Amino acid sequence: MTKAVEHDARRYELLREMGLGPMWVHRQISGFEPRAKAPSAEIQHASAITAVGEIEPAAAVAAPVVIVNSASNSLAREMNEGKPSALSAWDTAPLQAVTPAPTARSAVPTDAQIASMEWPELQAAVAACVRCPLCKTRRRTVFGTGDQRGRWLLVGEGPGRSEDQQGEPFVGPAGKLLDNMLHAIDMKRGENNYIANIVKCRPTDSGGNDRAPTAEEAAACRPYLDRQIALLQPATILALGKVAAVSLLGCDPKTAVATLRGIVHSHGAAALVVTYHPAYLLRKPQDKAKSWQDLCLLRQTAAAVSTQGD
Ligand code: URA
Repeated sequence: MTKAVEHDARRYELLREMGLGPMWVHRQISGFEPRAKAPSAEIQHASAITAVGEIEPAAAVAAPVVIVNSASNSLAREMNEGKPSALSAWDTAPLQAVTPAPTARSAVPTDAQIASMEWPELQAAVAACVRCPLCKTRRRTVFGTGDQRGRWLLVGEGPGRSEDQQGEPFVGPAGKLLDNMLHAIDMKRGENNYIANIVKCRPTDSGGNDRAPTAEEAAACRPYLDRQIALLQPATILALGKVAAVSLLGCDPKTAVATLRGIVHSHGAAALVVTYHPAYLLRKPQDKAKSWQDLCLLRQTAAAVSTQGD
């Protein structure tokens, strides 16, 4: 078996595990081929998937992709218009000036102090954090994991039971599905990507079960994620689920994920794509096909970003 055939076999196996196989037919998906060069003028929007799981070229079937919050982000605008240009600010943005960190830290660091921390200090601050009541019930904080120089950032909601025990994001069943989703687009956890959450401590209900973080908990934790994003300077962000999407985009918490999908948003200098949370997909596997579309859009966006300087 050649390497390419082996690769395809592995991919189809992963797609089957995601509940997307075995009928996937890969046809002319610009920017989705492994390490394919992004199309220049004719980049396509999210590919559509038929009822039997075939991928159709998006131009024929996809709903128009609209510009959202992209005034400051030329790539998001270009992707939504379908015309990435050769030149944008993506890879030429100047390095951010870092304010020297104060030498003595208070027990509860201020937002401004957090905003000046480097990775080790930031991680230590999260481990000791008492900014919200979740610190009282957590076992371990879940800082985030991956390649700190990675170009992709994946953002989830918050730790669940397994993550609280292990101190790592997405290590439970939803994490296994996330790994498979990444494999399906030729990515591997921790390779050129970083995974973080909106909140770093596990939110639980009165019965000790996982729950979504409240807006207050998300706000209390936000300076940590903001600093992670500032240090990472990701080119592309994947928001996993509603909590991550509405929090990162600053939209009404009642906004449905369905209305945020299929669009290249922007978050600062990064392009941001929204998809369903893997835990939701485990409960509602029929929406995995839509999530696959989102991953294709993300991949196309990332390919366009990486060729911006060519
Ligand atoms: N769900 C999330 O959103 N994040 C995790 O780390 C685990 C499950």
